[in-house]
Amino acid sequence: MTAKVSCLVENSVIVFPDQLKARIQDAGLATDNVLKIGDDEEDSLLWCPDSSGEFSVKSAFNEIRNQGNEARWCKLLWKPHIHPKTAAKAWKLIKNRVASEKRSQSIGVSLASACRLCMTGEDSVEHVCWHCPMAQRMWSWARRKFRHNREFWSLGQAICRPKEWSPLIQNLWSTTVFSGMVAIWQLRNSVVMGNERIRIEKCQSFIKNQIDIAARMSKANSYRNALEEDILLNWNLRTNHTSRVIKECRWLPPAANVIKANTDGASTDSNSGLGVVFRDCDCNIILTVCKNIGDMNSFQAEYQAIISALEVAVSRGWDKVWIESDSQAAITSFAHNRVPWQMKFRWLKVVKFFTMLQMSTTWREANFSADKASKVALSLTPHILYSYEERPTWLTVCENPDTSYYRFK
Ligand SMILES: [Zn+2]
Repeated sequence: MTAKVSCLVENSVIVFPDQLKARIQDAGLATDNVLKIGDDEEDSLLWCPDSSGEFSVKSAFNEIRNQGNEARWCKLLWKPHIHPKTAAKAWKLIKNRVASEKRSQSIGVSLASACRLCMTGEDSVEHVCWHCPMAQRMWSWARRKFRHNREFWSLGQAICRPKEWSPLIQNLWSTTVFSGMVAIWQLRNSVVMGNERIRIEKCQSFIKNQIDIAARMSKANSYRNALEEDILLNWNLRTNHTSRVIKECRWLPPAANVIKANTDGASTDSNSGLGVVFRDCDCNIILTVCKNIGDMNSFQAEYQAIISALEVAVSRGWDKVWIESDSQAAITSFAHNRVPWQMKFRWLKVVKFFTMLQMSTTWREANFSADKASKVALSLTPHILYSYEERPTWLTVCENPDTSYYRFK
């Protein structure tokens, strides 16, 4: 392709050929936000790896070394509640730095590989730790203690734990996963080296030991409900139900002539939505908007909700606006003018319009009408902005300035 950008401009508008349009969209950009605001504005370069679009040595370094989010287990392994010796052994297993017959085969040693625990599978980390019937017996014993019934056949599957668990139970679970790998491998070693009898109880007591250490060392030390109390009792751990801190928050109406927009984003595995509820100083809902924004993560959805709220405000001629979101990260980056570069042009286009623009964060507990709107958006036709001039029938409750909302910490 030898064409220049100027070839695409027709009457100050860039007209994209379909092929190019598809590429721009593939890069995560929209064809309506790569434009400058005016012809007099300087062209600028964007450094895509950093969300701000600005180049930094740090982000370049991270880009080169391809840090990425390679392995979720890294974040879970090197923790104070996991004994460093166990963590180091688990790390060796995960990285396949152990003497297995499979590994010997891979470096050219000719031998028949057989798992000593079941005599049917091969002697590899993957088999011994995950697929071997002995390992599966150990894992199902551990799962029962956690009242956790999803089977797993790899580390990736094993470390996916129920989101509703409190941090304490999550810490105990990750300890179980890593120490279980180490335990079963140690059992395999003792059988290979000393022809010892296979006793799964050895694994169980090793895991129990590690769980005791984790419970003592874990920074999180309180549980949430009866089910979690039950899990702790299963492990014979002293239960420590610290009383939770209850915090109060309120939804406040805007001042006269100011429009308040509560925004929220929602996302599922394949879909995401944004919702904005606009209200005036008398707390009337004057407009609700919802949009299904396709496959985005929850952060992106929060940003999209804010920028869409601003665009709608501009289109309605509301120049005094208060944006409230429950995403601290999104509000902070807008407030510090460090908007993700994908949205920078949309932001610059609208921000000049406002004579007053206030931004604040609140808790989900006091932002539930926008939350509802963002969830409704998930089932709408993608990429169409739905506006409700009157209060939508599904918005049965909204924040009341005379009510206190509570968060339990
Ligand atoms: Zn086996």
